[in-house]
Amino acid sequence: MSREEYNRVFELLQKHHQWFGEVIPLIASENIPSPAVREALISDFGNRYAEGWPGERVYAGCIYIDEVENLCIRMMKKLFRAEFADVRPISGVVANLVIYTAFTEPGDTMMALSIPCGGHITMGKKKLGGTAGAVHGLNVEYLALDYEEMNIDVDRTKERLKKLVNKGKTPKLVMFGASVFPFPHPLKELADSFHEVGATVGYDAAHVAGLIAGGCFQDPLREGADVMSLSTHKTFFGPQHGSVVSWERYAEKIKRATFPGMVSNHHLHAVAGVAIACAELLEFGKEYATQVIRNAKALAQALYEQGFNVLAEHKGFTESHVILIDITKQGDGGTIEKELERANIIINRNLLPWDIKEGRHFMHPGGIRLGTSELTRLGMKEAEMVEIAEFIKRVVMDRESPEKVKEDVVEFRKNYQKVHYCFESVMEAYKYIKIR
Ligand SMILES: *Cc1c(COP(=O)(O)O)cnc(C)c1O
Repeated sequence: MSREEYNRVFELLQKHHQWFGEVIPLIASENIPSPAVREALISDFGNRYAEGWPGERVYAGCIYIDEVENLCIRMMKKLFRAEFADVRPISGVVANLVIYTAFTEPGDTMMALSIPCGGHITMGKKKLGGTAGAVHGLNVEYLALDYEEMNIDVDRTKERLKKLVNKGKTPKLVMFGASVFPFPHPLKELADSFHEVGATVGYDAAHVAGLIAGGCFQDPLREGADVMSLSTHKTFFGPQHGSVVSWERYAEKIKRATFPGMVSNHHLHAVAGVAIACAELLEFGKEYATQVIRNAKALAQALYEQGFNVLAEHKGFTESHVILIDITKQGDGGTIEKELERANIIINRNLLPWDIKEGRHFMHPGGIRLGTSELTRLGMKEAEMVEIAEFIKRVVMDRESPEKVKEDVVEFRKNYQKVHYCFESVMEAYKYIKIR
């Protein structure tokens, strides 16, 4: 007797689609892909295996799949001016594991930001269950963060590196990049110090890949990075997937780490979706990324004027899609996240760099994180950011009933239903695609 559950799944999917057409989506790691990308995702590619490199597959039936993957590789290289791209990692986590496997051995030391300082769980220590420590056996040491600047502290990081070298724990790898990533990291200032001790310089562009592709953030491969990982669905507006880009001299070891190391099937429907997103970014990336950053600055400014403690005010709050707010005067991140959700405003709670020291926990941290990629994709500009700041203020500062604010949010969203910065927007962004 499963017919009921079967029907219920479709009902829930449809409810979700309807809901998301009525919310203000502010999750910094999310985006909305174009209808074209979504069409690729329901193609038969998703039922096939390829394994291996285009032209050298383990399976037959890959004639068209190979051509799509080659197109994807060619465009990915163009977007990041890279000599080599592997578009097979099925997510950003897997892309980081590819880097760890290609450039380190278990037991080696890696440097990265800690999680409260914006680092990602993939860079976490073994005792925290992080991918680097618990899955690949790396000894993780931290890059230093300057809390005022909300960026990596160059001098203190050099000191920490020196100490590690003196202790015989010279890092084999350093990972720049983060999940809270308002300002370009000081790659140029630090890459030489790491290269001098023989470390590989990695850059995790999971969050900012779409901004880099649009030419609006830093350019890691020109600034000293040997290898870069990315998610293809955060500011990069494709389907959920990952990639690694690098230089030709590292191609063989990256390929081998991906397959047979990290993937068997590599989600060929997603590769097709990534190819479409690459084409869209080549065409519209600059305009899109410029507006994402303008929107983030405008939202930060408007919230600041409403009395919110948006961090890094003296630096203009952000140079990316993301802003971080210390919410401790208004409550805790967890509670505020829930209240805003009741008003159809979707944000996420976030640790502040000093939260652990002050005894705060991930369920109830001192911060909230907001990102503007998806709103931008829906066609919103600076004026709409001011309206959104007002909605947030009404819930968090004025303590208006979230249900009351929700009514206005739903009304506001009616004008923003199509995806922008793509070749054709044939249907509404969150419309449930029916093929039955
Ligand atoms: C999101 C994120 C990842 C993981 O990406 P997935 O595609 O979700 O697996 C890796 N690194 C950073 C810094 C991230 O923010």
